[in-house]
Amino acid sequence: MPGGVKADVRTYQMYVNGEWVDSKSNKTFPVYDPASEEVIAQVPDANADDVNRAVAAAKAAFEDGPWASTTAQERGRVLFRLAEKIRQNAAMLAELESRNTGKPIVEAEFDITDVATCFEYYGGLATKILGFVNPVPDNAVSLTLKEPIGVAGQIIPWNYPLLMAAWKLAPALAAGCTCVLKPAEQTPITALEMANWLAEVGLPPGVVNIITGFGETCGAPLVQHPDVNKIAFTGSAAVGKIIVKQAADTVKRVTLELGGKSPNIFFADADFEAAIDGALFGVFINQGEVCSAGSRILVQKTIYKKFVDAMTEKAKKIKLGAPLDRDTKMGPLVSKDQYERVRSYQEIGKKEAKLAFGGGRAEQFAKGYYVQPTIFYDVTNSARIAREEIFGPVATVIPFEDEKDAVKIANDSPYGLAAAVWTRDIFKAFRAVKSLRAGIVWVNHMQPTYVEAPWGGYKQSGFGRELGPWGIEEYLETKQVHINLNEAPIGWY
Ligand code: ADP
Ligand code: MG
Repeated sequence: MPGGVKADVRTYQMYVNGEWVDSKSNKTFPVYDPASEEVIAQVPDANADDVNRAVAAAKAAFEDGPWASTTAQERGRVLFRLAEKIRQNAAMLAELESRNTGKPIVEAEFDITDVATCFEYYGGLATKILGFVNPVPDNAVSLTLKEPIGVAGQIIPWNYPLLMAAWKLAPALAAGCTCVLKPAEQTPITALEMANWLAEVGLPPGVVNIITGFGETCGAPLVQHPDVNKIAFTGSAAVGKIIVKQAADTVKRVTLELGGKSPNIFFADADFEAAIDGALFGVFINQGEVCSAGSRILVQKTIYKKFVDAMTEKAKKIKLGAPLDRDTKMGPLVSKDQYERVRSYQEIGKKEAKLAFGGGRAEQFAKGYYVQPTIFYDVTNSARIAREEIFGPVATVIPFEDEKDAVKIANDSPYGLAAAVWTRDIFKAFRAVKSLRAGIVWVNHMQPTYVEAPWGGYKQSGFGRELGPWGIEEYLETKQVHINLNEAPIGWY
């Protein structure tokens, strides 16, 4: 917290079956403010017993509760009312989000607006889940019905805490599912605050359950639980792989949005000022803690030197500061672990490439997990800093010769979440769009994200898509119904 103000330490309960409960073990764990390194809250430390309780509530709500017969119109209205609550409480939520993650308050305000928009979008979509009449060659009516998949287990990361909760909850509820949501252990408090309104907006007990705990002791039992029909996960590639394996035993549906090492490609004919801005924004927004961060900056050789110099000059002016200061552009990293991880990659980078700027802790702060925005250049695409997701403000600049070379380097990655290309040549831009193996491709921009458009990756960045109509599809089963219109027997025997 800025100004040395002593944080209030609130003890939260978690939300299960419409009630506030402690963990069965009565254990709690601390939640930190990464700027002051102080504890700001205590939350229940949920384990397998708590998972069982939450899943039982979600299963009962799905099978026997009033939610099963709640109309699509009413599910939509519930989501609109929840969006309204988010908007009314946006200032409080943004401040909490900023304090807990370290992200600048201005960015947190955008996040909370996006949360409300996401609930509104899926509130509208609830009444647009359409079936199909199949043109079968018989005297019969063949239908395709869409039905909710059942109990959804939802495991989310710490970089956009409430927004990731909304991306998971909104389509699931619009589809008619029930949910057990596990926020990241670093950042559980905004989701718990939101739980205050769930009953009031009309969600029956057990439809949304929010349990707080760690990955191995709370996330894993949720993945393994036989009564959970689907797992939606956003997080690291390493954990995504564990989840796919663990979901196999119960043949769970799984959607994964994992990391990336997304290329941001700059051709010599791009608008230079816009390009420099776009390179910095792509990799440093939200302290670089973004799954789609443009962390590989590919620059055409003819502008390479000038580009690195201009990026460096502009990076020097990025204002690091207290998350709650309105002119802060970069706050601390979310946690001590993440700080240490990013620091270690800064050191690895110094051995693998040339350092243009940064490379260490931001020492102007006495406390807090602040690191300098860091730019490495002359990076080879085989370097660890070019292959491994760092999830922090570390840019790797890689030179390229021509179009073919750029696409080859861009696609030479185990990941394929996002990519961006900057040029004034529409033909060149679209050739790149088609060649890039990534789920999201931006042209002359990087990072804008809309609830109306699909989000998800190719290759090891995961599978399944969130947002838009694609997002709700992942919470729906498909049922074929055949209605025979022949009154006579089949006549086979
Ligand atoms: P990071 O290491 O950056 O925190 P993770 O992928 O570990 O990213 O965390 C994302 C989410 O996955 C968090 O909610 C975390 O608790 C959860 N998680 C971590 N390990 C597991 C696991 N083995 N099974 C299920 N969930 C997990
Ligand atoms: Mg982890």
